[in-house]
Amino acid sequence: KPTFDIVVVGGGAAGIGVTASLLRRQPRLRIAIVEPSDKHYYQPGWTLVGGGAFEIGKTVRPTASLIPGDAQWIQARVTRFAPERDAVELDDGRELGYRHLIVCPGLQLGWDKIDGLEASLGKHGVTSNYRFDLAPYTWQLVRETRRGRALFTQPPMPIKCAGAPQKALYLACDHWRREGVLANIDVEFNNAGAALFGVAAFVPSLMRYIERYHAALAFNSNLVAVDGPNRVATFAVKDADGNVTRVDKPFDMLHVVPPQAAPDFIRTSPLANPDGWCETDPATLRHPRYPNIFALGDVCSTSNAKTAAAVRKQIVIVARNLLAARDGQPLPAAYDGYGACPLTVEKGKVVFAEFGYGGKLLPTFPLDGTVARRSSWHMKTKLLPWLYWEGMLKGHEWLTQTKAG
Ligand code: FAD
Repeated sequence: KPTFDIVVVGGGAAGIGVTASLLRRQPRLRIAIVEPSDKHYYQPGWTLVGGGAFEIGKTVRPTASLIPGDAQWIQARVTRFAPERDAVELDDGRELGYRHLIVCPGLQLGWDKIDGLEASLGKHGVTSNYRFDLAPYTWQLVRETRRGRALFTQPPMPIKCAGAPQKALYLACDHWRREGVLANIDVEFNNAGAALFGVAAFVPSLMRYIERYHAALAFNSNLVAVDGPNRVATFAVKDADGNVTRVDKPFDMLHVVPPQAAPDFIRTSPLANPDGWCETDPATLRHPRYPNIFALGDVCSTSNAKTAAAVRKQIVIVARNLLAARDGQPLPAAYDGYGACPLTVEKGKVVFAEFGYGGKLLPTFPLDGTVARRSSWHMKTKLLPWLYWEGMLKGHEWLTQTKAG
């Protein structure tokens, strides 16, 4: 079987970025990236697309154009891990050997976990910014809706970009407010959790926007079924005593964020923790049971916010630690859990939530990060997409080491 210095599982934000960073440090490394898709997506752009503030075409590029020149792209899917013999199995029957393995296949969206959802997506007023083909439909619905009821949903945590469900709501409401139709639209945020945002420091700023948009908050309300043709969404609603009842809500527009989990081939592998995520040391990002395996990105068991901003910091940690491990040295780098969630509270302003493990605030700039700012909007819409394509995916260390997400 072909054997590489390093095999990278997944060529998304993390896989391309960490490979580029490793090759900048040691150009002679033999690295294979296993990635089935011939397209690579800039997912943080989809919220903006759904709010009419970004072109969908700018969120996709051919994978082939992004694989670092000295790495080998293997267009296949990993199906099984065999860490006892340092090998991975592919869906085309091949097997690859490695000295070190980097696990970064992202997470799995559970569209099928909500009854009737898949049959309704993209029609009947049902949409989601979590898919490339549907984000433009969100913007179409926002423009078309002039009255009625608009429901926005958030599934149980963890999800990638925990702020994205409410970002969809804010940008829609801001458009309706500018058009003078917001008063005719009954807006409701149905959240499976019990708080507007996981880090309390940001909640007051966000609440001001919820009030400004007259949006109703329904906590402990988890979407379980969608009847597209009749435009009814069903929620499992938990009361204070823990009793769950099913509540039907009619809608004109429904923005869904699907439940999310570790990919099945991770969940069923020896690498998984009891919840199915790839077990990862929170500081070194090394697997606690397999010392030649590292992980980064959304697949990790770590408690940081699952964001591209986190990936940008993790790339440097994994690259440095893996190379030290190759040389038999102690691991030099420790991850602080940094992640960032730019909350697009209106077109033109962003609350830039940056925090690490335990919700510790980690602002990049010496400014109060809980305040909505115009400068942060420019960062989100202009600087960050550039930083992603030209900095992070190309392994530029001076860029990957800056914090801003
Ligand atoms: P991905 O980028 O998803 O890549 C995983 C890759 O693994 C994919 O290319 C996939 O094809 C591949 N793969 C899957 N299975 C296999 C397999 N079996 N074998 C081999 N390869 C496989 N982040 C921010 O920082 N800021 C934001 O504002 C933001 N907003 C977001 C808004 C939305 C709507 C969404 C969906 C995400 C947002 N994110 C944001 C999150 C960000 O996109 C992710 O955290 C980031 O892409 C994670 O990188 P990753 O490499 O772990 O996963």
